[in-house]
Amino acid sequence: MYNNANELKLLCDQQGKKIYEVAIDVEAENSDCTIKEVRQKFREAIKTMKDACSKTLKKEIPSVSGLTSGNAKKLMSYISKGNTILSADTLKCVAHALSCFEVNTSMGKIIAAPTAGSCGILPACIFLTGEKIDADEETLVNAFATAAAIGLIIEKNATLSGAEGGCQAECGSASAMAAAAVVEMLGGTIDEALHAGAMTITNVMGQVCDPIAGLVEIPCAKRNAIGVVNALLCADLALAGITCFVPFDEVIDAMYAVGKALPPELRETGLGGLAATPTGIAVRKKIFGE
Ligand code: SF4
Repeated sequence: MYNNANELKLLCDQQGKKIYEVAIDVEAENSDCTIKEVRQKFREAIKTMKDACSKTLKKEIPSVSGLTSGNAKKLMSYISKGNTILSADTLKCVAHALSCFEVNTSMGKIIAAPTAGSCGILPACIFLTGEKIDADEETLVNAFATAAAIGLIIEKNATLSGAEGGCQAECGSASAMAAAAVVEMLGGTIDEALHAGAMTITNVMGQVCDPIAGLVEIPCAKRNAIGVVNALLCADLALAGITCFVPFDEVIDAMYAVGKALPPELRETGLGGLAATPTGIAVRKKIFGE
């Protein structure tokens, strides 16, 4: 078992294994399953995530509150016109994340990886990278296992919850998980994967959780969008040999301290930040009354 990134790296080095191999070994041990059974569970989750990441690309599905929907379809239509600023691949990845998020807000089936509010970031990044390298299903399983190891470390040492640590802990963690997985998928080292994960968190350190009307819709959809770009950027930075100045475990400790220092208004109560703007208050009144 590993309790932090240092211990994970030590285990990987001692056993000559990749992050995903150690992650699957530990998951099998903890859940009293065989490695084959663990891998099968990942495969089932991947199917759900794939469906969610493509479901609203062509067909808008209304969210329960009516606040957010149709963004994935709009973005795909914009990409098809061929005059984008970011690369079409990056934007398609964002569209897939938005689709997954829109399935969540319409009460469809998603995998909360690590949470429902941040559900689009991780699968979109892994599926995009999978397409680029023509990955088979086992490679995708490995990538999600790597991501799970990063998520487990954050959960053990800090939090994955916006209510406890702000959006940095929720979408930030999703991006860290995605960045590390992408690095490993592309042949990066364990150190590079950890640097990528650490950099994503440093990029959103202090990001508050301020959902309008307390509903996980606004600004959450766009936090998934930027979470994708953050993850892909940091994966590229790490693969280019750029490192995070502060080590992964220290970044997680700092993120947790910052999260605990946030006032309750900025931790998913819907009372601060964007939720407390005149627009945010008007939306809350429209939905819930005075
Ligand atoms: S703003 Fe809050 S509810 Fe929305 S995705 Fe971020 S952490 Fe989740």
